[in-house]
Amino acid sequence: MYIVMVTAECAPVAKVGGLGDVVYGLSRELEIRGNAVEIILPKYDCMRYDHIWGLQKVYDDLWVPWFNYRIHCSVWFGFVHGLKCFFIEPHSNDQFFNRGAYYGFPDEHMRFAFFSKAALEFMLKSGKRPDIIHTHDWQTALTPVMLYETYARAGMGNCRVCHTIHNFKHQGVAGENVLWFTGLDRPEYYYSRERMGDDFNPTAINFTKGALLYSNYITTVSPHHAWEVRHTDWGYGLSHALYTHQEKFCGILNGLDYDMWNPEADPYISHSYHALSMEGKYQNQETLRHRLLLRQDHKPLIAYVGRLDMQKGVHLIRHALFHALHKGAQFVLLGSSPEPGINAEFWQLKHEFNNNQDCHLELGYDEELAHQIYAGADMLVVPSLFEPCGLTQMIALRYGTVPIVRSVGGLADTVFDRDYSELPENERNGYVFHQADYHALESAMDRAIGLWFDYPEEFQDLVQNGMAYDYSWNRPGEHYLNIYENIRYK
Ligand code: ADP
Repeated sequence: MYIVMVTAECAPVAKVGGLGDVVYGLSRELEIRGNAVEIILPKYDCMRYDHIWGLQKVYDDLWVPWFNYRIHCSVWFGFVHGLKCFFIEPHSNDQFFNRGAYYGFPDEHMRFAFFSKAALEFMLKSGKRPDIIHTHDWQTALTPVMLYETYARAGMGNCRVCHTIHNFKHQGVAGENVLWFTGLDRPEYYYSRERMGDDFNPTAINFTKGALLYSNYITTVSPHHAWEVRHTDWGYGLSHALYTHQEKFCGILNGLDYDMWNPEADPYISHSYHALSMEGKYQNQETLRHRLLLRQDHKPLIAYVGRLDMQKGVHLIRHALFHALHKGAQFVLLGSSPEPGINAEFWQLKHEFNNNQDCHLELGYDEELAHQIYAGADMLVVPSLFEPCGLTQMIALRYGTVPIVRSVGGLADTVFDRDYSELPENERNGYVFHQADYHALESAMDRAIGLWFDYPEEFQDLVQNGMAYDYSWNRPGEHYLNIYENIRYK
């Protein structure tokens, strides 16, 4: 099968969070299974160009219709760790992707509406006719709309679309000008609530709603979250639309790229290790403590890695830090936030703990350090308020680090409580709490810390159980192929 991913992120070249990891990992798995995969991305100025091999301009005459004029684009090609990637570079005064950052601009909807259209225009003009176009999140949710309404008639009528929603909180809600600029026009038609009319704002269109209607299949990133978005508030207003389209909607658990995340061959960690020989993990712990100026001591090392966003349970992350120290553990945090308020709060904490040898906060994005933390920590807390899938708990399991998670979304699908799960003992792999309050978090942390201090051998059993899990792309890759096969001839 010939599959084209249209996406705003792909690890490691353009990654902000899990979306980037998923596009990379799924694409690789699909290729391993014998499919032809290509990825279309914007050509951001701030990408990790050191991860692209053989970057060269391959198409210099792409004119993308935009409002009543056309924007000239160049298309570049390069390999990202073996994956074929095309990068679209518009030449206009808008400087859509030359902003020094991936996201966070007032014209965000225009930037990605343009990219969604440019990707289709590129496929049309260069003769690409994929069996499947796989789009991701609101940024590329207009691609299925434009495919069906415009490009199908121009010769792309046989392409089918699978759209994956990685985060329902961000749906792409914009005003009518997006319709004029993309050439979709006809606001009275698209504003209908059955099409793209936003359910909360009668003067806005909702990109993700468009993808729900126009895609041949929609997935989200874990089965539990698929249930949550239909039956609870976590659908952020889309529950009804999901109900309408339920026959083409399901949740598929994300996988983890087992080559990129592999303690046996991880270039970023000082000592490799595996389940049968864990010595390296303790050496990594020593190295990590040394790097972060923590004291070498007989204490469990608890970590948090991730965005500092309300979604992640910021108040609980903060509390986990204080509670870990109170219980005689060490705590390491790696994270960043685009929100000034949250950022300021954590910078304040960082200053407060500057001289504390049991605690370190690293505020920023650091891929290498993230690997070292997964390898060196004993436990990882993930106290999210909602979590569509979550990759950090799966990475932790792979690196023999025990996850302590709140039971939501994909966390509920992947972590099973050592004391209370109904699974057989050897399939329990971490600690789970339910309420989003301090008491619940503390009780899970206390059980984990207690086991580490009082029953180290049993703690090791738990580590081993976690490492035995297979959260690679193997199974999810098969699921996605089944979906592609199903929609291909519809
Ligand atoms: P989300 O997609 O909501 O950000 P996920 O758990 O799905 O959360 O994916 C997070 C990914 O981003 C993981 O690979 C994690 O290691 C990485 N990550 C998040 N924050 C940072 C950071 N500050 N530095 C390095 N890696 C990070």
